[in-house]
Amino acid sequence: MREVGFSTRAIHAGQDPDPVTGAVITPIYQTSTFAQDGLGKHRGYEYARSGNPTRTALEQCLAALEGAKHGLAFGSGLGAETTLLHTLKSGDHVVAMDDLYGGTFRLFEQVFRQLGITFSYVDARDIRALREGLQTNTRFVWLETPTNPLMKVVDIAAVADATHQAGAKLVVDNTFMSPYLQQPLSLGADVVVHSSTKYLGGHSDVVGGAILLNDDELASQLRFLENATGTVPGPLDCWLVLRGVKTLAVRMRAHEANALHIAECLERHPRVLQVNYPGLASHPDHAIAQRQQNGFGGMLSFVIDGGLESARHALERMKLFTLAESLGGVESLAEHPATMTHSSMPIARREALGVSDGLIRLSVGIEDLEDLLHDLKHALEQ
Ligand SMILES: *Cc1c(COP(=O)(O)O)cnc(C)c1O
Repeated sequence: MREVGFSTRAIHAGQDPDPVTGAVITPIYQTSTFAQDGLGKHRGYEYARSGNPTRTALEQCLAALEGAKHGLAFGSGLGAETTLLHTLKSGDHVVAMDDLYGGTFRLFEQVFRQLGITFSYVDARDIRALREGLQTNTRFVWLETPTNPLMKVVDIAAVADATHQAGAKLVVDNTFMSPYLQQPLSLGADVVVHSSTKYLGGHSDVVGGAILLNDDELASQLRFLENATGTVPGPLDCWLVLRGVKTLAVRMRAHEANALHIAECLERHPRVLQVNYPGLASHPDHAIAQRQQNGFGGMLSFVIDGGLESARHALERMKLFTLAESLGGVESLAEHPATMTHSSMPIARREALGVSDGLIRLSVGIEDLEDLLHDLKHALEQ
């Protein structure tokens, strides 16, 4: 069969017109239970924790977008990660990238460490350091790329090789790129995790998560665990993500066009000491980003001169860039990692990573570029 393009999959995969009514848009099956035709006879759905047709549509669609055989949708990104970590047992070990979403770090250190699972952290751009970090009990290598908030880019294929040689599986959190800009499974990753709260949903109106994979055995283990632990999404939330992904490609192109332009302007600005955006030729990981991504996305961070006070002043002067955590929506957001998203990180670790007091992170939205530039220019005036 002829393989269809990304946006065609986003709009149609898992979303045939409703067989009963012909509804073109997948209905929100707002029901907790399903009538059974007889003892042991049902139409594929029994109880909505185990499955719901709106969720099924989303799962099939996301799997088609990541090029995966199996898709599972969850109530949040962390719900997806929790379910995945429950496939491990006491004594198992995970090697993670040293620049991770704060909530993931907290889940590892404050929830699963107590259950006897150990975690260590390396800069996975250094394959030798990664190999040295792998142990005989390592089950997962866990990456985000590009990372948050420093936008480091990790070579997924190289890490997948090292991981597989050690008999472990590679998990990639693909939230920052979305499947439109990066497809980790095609680069050798075993499991893709998403916070669909971000670019997949795209409108800052829903919290959700997903796991996409090809491994049959791990997929059925995850389905069992999702039902057994109850980390499921509601049907309205699935519907909102499903509506969001229909425009993923056009949104990602618009995010990227704005972000690249803003990154170039910030790089020339006299008050900006450093810009972290993989689309800039000056970015240390530009070449690998160009090779493994289909674009550079809408996230960037930059360092302003004058530290905390300057950052505070600039953030307070922004009008269109809203001061808020989260990312990936159509509206532009700005935040201060040192005091917001990364405040729970010990200061020494934060400084070692480069999350300085002058660092500002932008989630560049799809408003008109001239307006965003005007807002930033105004914010950076002394
Ligand atoms: C937001 C986020 C998560 C957590 O997802 P939630 O939907 O907030 O639970 C995980 N990873 C990354 C990279 C994120 O940005």
